[in-house]
Amino acid sequence: MMKEEILERLLQEKDYVSGEALSQSFGVSRAAIWKSIQALREQGYPVEAATRKGYRLSAAADVLTKHVIEEKIKQLRLQDQLPFVIYEDTVVSTNLTAKQQLEQLSDGQGNHLIAAARQTGGKGRRGRSWLSDHEAGLWFSLLLQPSESPEIMARATLLTGLAVVRAMTEIWQLPVGIKWPNDLICLSDGKKAGGILSEILLEDQSVKGLIIGIGINLNSRHFPDEITDIATSMQLIKPGQYKRVDVLGSIVDQFFKLYPHLAHMERWLPDYKKNCLTLGQQVRAISFNGQIIEGTAVDIDQEGELVISGHNGKTHTVRSGEVSVRGLLGE
Ligand code: ATP
Repeated sequence: MMKEEILERLLQEKDYVSGEALSQSFGVSRAAIWKSIQALREQGYPVEAATRKGYRLSAAADVLTKHVIEEKIKQLRLQDQLPFVIYEDTVVSTNLTAKQQLEQLSDGQGNHLIAAARQTGGKGRRGRSWLSDHEAGLWFSLLLQPSESPEIMARATLLTGLAVVRAMTEIWQLPVGIKWPNDLICLSDGKKAGGILSEILLEDQSVKGLIIGIGINLNSRHFPDEITDIATSMQLIKPGQYKRVDVLGSIVDQFFKLYPHLAHMERWLPDYKKNCLTLGQQVRAISFNGQIIEGTAVDIDQEGELVISGHNGKTHTVRSGEVSVRGLLGE
C-alpha cells in the first residue's frame, strides 16, 4: 500500500521530503500523497508538514515496522542470530504467531523475531491473560531452535529475565528487579512492568522450537481496573523517551550476549540471583494440585528451581511452571 511505502520513505530520509518528490516517486497526484499522509497521522504517526519543505516524521516518533526492527538488528550486528523478522499490527499473541511460524519451518532454519503493535489475547503463565491491546508497550517473541534438551526451558525463562533486567538497569537506568521466575518488578513499589512467557515445542522428545514471549509496559500511565494496583510501566518508574524499537534493541542485545551460555547456568545464575527480589523473602507457593508451601525463599538451584526453607523445617524446591509465588512486597 502506498501509505506504508510513504512511511518507509520518511523513515529512511529522516529530513523533509517534498510532496512533489513523493508524487513523482509514486506516480500519483500531490493530493493523493496528502491523503496518505493524513491516513498515517490518523494511525498515530506524527508526520510534520512544512510549507515549501514537505513532510518528515517527527524525531520523537515511536515507530515500529518490520523495516525499523531490521535496521536495529543490523545496527546491533545481530543479523546472523536473528535473520527473520515478522511484524504485524494486531495479533492474538506473538507467541501464537511464533508457533504457527514454527509449524512451517524445517530444522535449523534460523531464529525469528515476531513483534506486534497490539495483542488481543496476550498470555501470562497458566493461561492467565496479559493485557496488551494497545501500542504503549513492547510485545514480542523470539522463536529459536536450540539443539539442547527440553530441560532448557526453565533456564531460558531465567536467562531472559536476566537479559531484560540488565537492559532495564544498565541501559535505561531503571530501579527494577526480577520476581522469580519471570516478572519484571519495580523496586520501590513492587509493581509489575513486564513479564516473560517461554514455551517449548517438542517433536519426538527433542526440542523443535523454543518460544520466548516478552511483554514490557513502556508508556502506559493508566491500566484497566483489574491490574491497576499491580501494574506499572517504564514511564511511571522513570519518565523518559522510550521508543519501542530502542527498548527492543536493548533487550535482544542483552539476550544474545547471554544466550550462548544457556547451558552453562553457573556463568550467569549468580547475577540472576543478585537481581532476584524473591530471595530472602517470605513466600507462599501454591502448586497446581493445590499444595501450599510456606517459608523463606533461600536459593535458586542449578535447574532454575526455587528453594524454599519451609516453616516446618523441611526444604522444598518448586519449578517455575508449577507455582504461583505470593507474599512478595505486599501481594
Ligand atoms: P504469579 O504472581 O502467580 O507468579 P505470574 O507472575 O506468573 O503470576 P503471569 O502469569 O506472568 O503472572 O502474568 C499474568 C498476570 O499479570 C495477570 O494475571 C495479571 O494479574 C497481570 N497482568 C496482566 N497484564 C498485565 C500488564 N500489562 N502489566 C502488568 N501486569 C499484568
